[in-house]
Amino acid sequence: MDNNAYDDLVSRLKEIGQLDSTAALLDWDAETYMPKNGLSVRADQLALLARLSHERMTDPAIGDLIGSLDEKCDDEACETNVREIKRLYLRATKIPTRLVERIARVSTVAKESWQKAREKSHFETFKPHLAELIDLRCQVADAIGFQDERYDALLDEFEPGMTTKEVTRLFTALREPLSEFVQAVSESDAAPDASILHRSFPIETQKLWCRQMAGEIGFDFDSGRIDISTHPFCSGNAPTDVRLTTRYLENFFNSAMFGTLHEAGHGLYEQGLPIEHVFTPRGQAVSLGIHESQSRLWENLVGRSRPFWERYYPQCRIAFSEALSDVSLDQFYAAINVVNPSLIRVEADEVTYNLHIILRFEIERDLIGGKLAVGDIPEAWNDKMETLVGVRPDNDANGCLQDIHWSMGGFGYFPTYALGNLYAAQFFARARQDIPELMEQIGRGEFAPLLEWLRMKIHRHGQHYRASELVQRVSGRALSIEPFLDYVSDKFAPLYGIES
Ligand code: ZN
Repeated sequence: MDNNAYDDLVSRLKEIGQLDSTAALLDWDAETYMPKNGLSVRADQLALLARLSHERMTDPAIGDLIGSLDEKCDDEACETNVREIKRLYLRATKIPTRLVERIARVSTVAKESWQKAREKSHFETFKPHLAELIDLRCQVADAIGFQDERYDALLDEFEPGMTTKEVTRLFTALREPLSEFVQAVSESDAAPDASILHRSFPIETQKLWCRQMAGEIGFDFDSGRIDISTHPFCSGNAPTDVRLTTRYLENFFNSAMFGTLHEAGHGLYEQGLPIEHVFTPRGQAVSLGIHESQSRLWENLVGRSRPFWERYYPQCRIAFSEALSDVSLDQFYAAINVVNPSLIRVEADEVTYNLHIILRFEIERDLIGGKLAVGDIPEAWNDKMETLVGVRPDNDANGCLQDIHWSMGGFGYFPTYALGNLYAAQFFARARQDIPELMEQIGRGEFAPLLEWLRMKIHRHGQHYRASELVQRVSGRALSIEPFLDYVSDKFAPLYGIES
């Protein structure tokens, strides 16, 4: 390996990483503390950073340096960084700048028109902008190139290496058994009372409680913070500075409790990435799907488990005594795990959630593949909702206008949510094999063994392995729907008296 060329590439990568993380920090500030009049100045600052980052990434000098790397790498950090910088450089240089600028401009307008359309529940308002965005994203896909399907090129941005064919295979297999399970739940006589979660939970108490819970599972407050924002997120500035946000609703316990565990799950991944490789691919997360697996694992497989609440419910009941004094552990556990087929994705439970994603994926894939016309989205959406989840939206605000993603041109993003759930179940099943006492440990509030397992198997590798390789190495098999379906039936069949 030509060390000078490699070192030069790495220092360029690090600077690009620093620009991007500075932008992320400004973004975090805009969502948390910035006064509202700061918006236009902030937009200029962010646009400048985005331009500088893009210019550096597409600098022909990077192409020259890549070209001069002729010998083999001596270590895995080099292999990972060279592989990724080639991929990122090729991707960035293939997309014409005028297309990048056009998308940025159209997205700004489209986001506004989407907001208006959603308020009025009027798809036609959004339709022309959506049509243009789809056309632009198709041009991007064509510029990048693909082997089988155009959608592959878009999916690759969020889940590198994943293909439309593979997602279709997984989701098609998942569709029916999951829909049938939801149907069985709907027919069940079990009626958990979820209204107990809508009693009064004082916000100041919730703040202390959520902070304690994030700390219990291992989130390090010397290397991170929790603040408040309307839309919760996790912004990984560096493993030593991870920003989580959450949202407190006095009349809904789940929002902050499970939102915090979710974001803390993302945060634990960020804090576990190798600091010595910060700002380079070797020190970054694998993909959005793998990231989501970490948040879902802590939020659902740990945080909505019975052992977790056997440990923490007695304390929780004292902290929120007004709301919970007459609620037993069984009632509480059933309430936080209620399955309720509904129209809105962000309110969906563990069982129906993936069905919301399958619907979006099928529509996106057909739009990008030219098999579905933009004007036919509302009807396709409503029909699929009825088939998959068993409920039909009576207006577009509760249907195809509910999510922000398409207004930002983010086609190919949705599948990573469901992939995250599948990865999470598969990783967790393996963790239970490797740590036979895992559920007992969770019941004692001992999370260090699980966190250490995740650190060793997933976090410390950064992007060394692609998602599919990582899954194979960690679990000994390719990604499958089985661990997820087993988890769903093991947990929810007893709750709903369903024979499995
Ligand atoms: Zn997430």
